[in-house]
Amino acid sequence: MTKRKKLSKGQSRRIKENHQKRLKTANTATENTENKSQTQWQTDNLGAIESAIVISRFGQHADIETTDKEILRCNIRRTVSNIVCGDNVYFRRAKVSQGDLAGVIETVDERTSQLTRPDFYDGVKVVAANVDQILMVSAVLPEFTPSIIDRYLVACEDLGIKPILILNKVDLLDDDTLSEVQSVLDIYRGIGYQVYLVSNKTGEGIDGIKSLLVDKNSIFVGQSGVGKSTLVNTLLPDSNILTKVVSENSGLGQHTTTVSRLHHLPSGGNLIDSPGIREFGLWHLEPDRVTWCFKEFREYLGGCKFRDCKHLKDPGCLIQEALAEGKISQLRFDNYHRILESMQEGRAGARAPRV
Ligand code: GDP
Repeated sequence: MTKRKKLSKGQSRRIKENHQKRLKTANTATENTENKSQTQWQTDNLGAIESAIVISRFGQHADIETTDKEILRCNIRRTVSNIVCGDNVYFRRAKVSQGDLAGVIETVDERTSQLTRPDFYDGVKVVAANVDQILMVSAVLPEFTPSIIDRYLVACEDLGIKPILILNKVDLLDDDTLSEVQSVLDIYRGIGYQVYLVSNKTGEGIDGIKSLLVDKNSIFVGQSGVGKSTLVNTLLPDSNILTKVVSENSGLGQHTTTVSRLHHLPSGGNLIDSPGIREFGLWHLEPDRVTWCFKEFREYLGGCKFRDCKHLKDPGCLIQEALAEGKISQLRFDNYHRILESMQEGRAGARAPRV
């Protein structure tokens, strides 16, 4: 390590002075921007505090729905920490609105849950708040893949949001395939997950889904092609009711394609549509966390002979014992190891230098 040369008194003083100068310039710049964006929100131009729910957020603005079901576009105070679709907020209406901005969001309520998406560069991003349940859609076409169901379940368990399994396109199943699929789904029922069989085509099971959504904030996830959009269109025939079209010249074009939106369902409840969250990544999770996210494994954790048990071939492994006794299914056990393997490969990829 190179030894740092000691600075003379004069050098230290000059560095200090320059530092102070830079600080002052930076502060003035911040004050100017603050003043510019906040001047329209002087207290005498603002009404009383009201509550609302965030329908969608775009940069420093958000569309909110008031208790009177009015949709207003508001500015977000700089002091308000990150707000997202589904947040309960408090705002003040402007007596004189500024352009299309009708008021300012002052504070945000604590969230009951956060839906996050791992972002390769920015870490974990919150994309929706106060989500009660995640409806995980799969289908026999393109393919019925329990390993993918398990990946989604791990993500839901990690988020602490209740997952519900929906098997769509049951109209394509003959009796034999149906009983095969049912026996796999029984594994999930057995560990306490709710399972629904539906068809957009025949309408089978759709009423069950509608009643499941009443009074809840829900989100559909699942692989491409399983029928999520069709399902959303069935439930929400006019999906643009709550979303103001963001003008092309607002400079927010890029955000509008991935932004999350909250829609009211005519049959009750809210649906959050978030293109960015339809498929989850798991690579940000630690292996121990993945083990915990297999919920039927939990009761055995910490009981294996070796503290760093990999639950594979290690002697004295309680998870393997449970597998041998049929308390844990082979399918879930295999998928668990598959997930860990794929994460290891993913991590190795993530460590590769960025180009
Ligand atoms: P997404 O990618 O998950 O949004 O899937 P889409 O909603 O775009 O549907 C993919 C394809 O599956 C489309 O061709 C739909 O018409 C078809 N599809 C959706 N639901 C059903 C269903 O219940 N039965 C059948 N047979 N096809 C369906």
